[in-house]
Amino acid sequence: NRQITLAARPVGRPQESDFALVETPIPELEEGQFLIHTTYLSVDPYMRGRMNDRKSYAEPVKLGDVMVGEAVGKVVESKHPKFDVGDIVAGSIGWQEYCVTDGTDIRKVRTGNQPVSAALGVLGMPGLTAYFGLLEIADPAAGETVVVSGAAGAVGSTVGQIAKIRGCRVVGIAGTDEKVAYLTDELGFDAAFNYKTTKDYVAKLAELCPEGIDVYFDNVGGPITDAVFPLLNKHARVSVCGQISQYNATKLEQGPRLLWKLIEKQARVEGFLVFQFIDKFRTAMVDLAHWVEEGQLKYRENIEEGLENAPKIFLGLFDGENIGKQLVRVSPE
Ligand code: NDP
Repeated sequence: NRQITLAARPVGRPQESDFALVETPIPELEEGQFLIHTTYLSVDPYMRGRMNDRKSYAEPVKLGDVMVGEAVGKVVESKHPKFDVGDIVAGSIGWQEYCVTDGTDIRKVRTGNQPVSAALGVLGMPGLTAYFGLLEIADPAAGETVVVSGAAGAVGSTVGQIAKIRGCRVVGIAGTDEKVAYLTDELGFDAAFNYKTTKDYVAKLAELCPEGIDVYFDNVGGPITDAVFPLLNKHARVSVCGQISQYNATKLEQGPRLLWKLIEKQARVEGFLVFQFIDKFRTAMVDLAHWVEEGQLKYRENIEEGLENAPKIFLGLFDGENIGKQLVRVSPE
């Protein structure tokens, strides 16, 4: 069984040498267990936090342990009453070719007409994150202006389209011209800009949001988020989903501290974790699947080959190499 383990705790940006490719025998199945052969592995920004020796909302990965992660795979052997050989499943499989499990945190995949890989993206955790972070935390109304950072990624691209479904004006922020074109030409964003080639974010946002900003969905933090605050409208809502610009930081950035804007505008900033909405996942999934089937919610997957390349592909998230959901194909479907 080929596995990727955590070999060293990174300081700052992780290196490929912080991971190791190891081979271990597949254990014999006990009663109540089954064996999954991994098809697609998801790499996600939150995994950076798991590499630190610091308890956050989840336990860190121990040195030498298999990296945690969601994956889709096929049941190839079973001694479990509810999972049969041939079932397609998704869940906490980890960065490995095969996984022996008792079914904890594993579910059967139902993606309808969509590929099974969608269970890791638009019809999985990132889709649900977009759904709840936007609709429950920010609750945008038709006609309001919604700004999304990290807009061309798995979560951000979904957020913008749900805001369009709600009837909002949507402005995206992303790191390449190709992403900007994708947002405006394919996903129906009203406007977008490339933060890597824009000098004055505040001026650019003011130009693209002539009526100010009612909702900001924050995936990145840092200077981009600082630039949003001066433009917040009365009763604005800021949904703090992620802070990827800070995940590799070795010292805390000194921000401009524009919190007085929240007083002036009686605005609200709220962080969330997708799992706090677990009781509502089923109904959210019905909406997401419906929008996808209707063509109102489009998605892209950036699929790269090979478990051995997972560390490099994961690190690519911090260079913005993905449009849409970043996946690793571990074996053919
Ligand atoms: P993405 O698919 O959006 O991939 C990450 C993207 O972040 C990259 O493509 C890159 O795009 C952008 N990025 C990387 N570094 C920076 C930087 N320094 N400044 C600005 N942008 C940067 O990932 P996800 O959709 O999976 O996740 C998006 C965010 O949501 C993450 O912050 C993640 O931690 C968070 N999240 C939170 C959850 C929750 O429950 N709260 C659940 C799931 C995700 P670009 O080219 O535009 O720079």
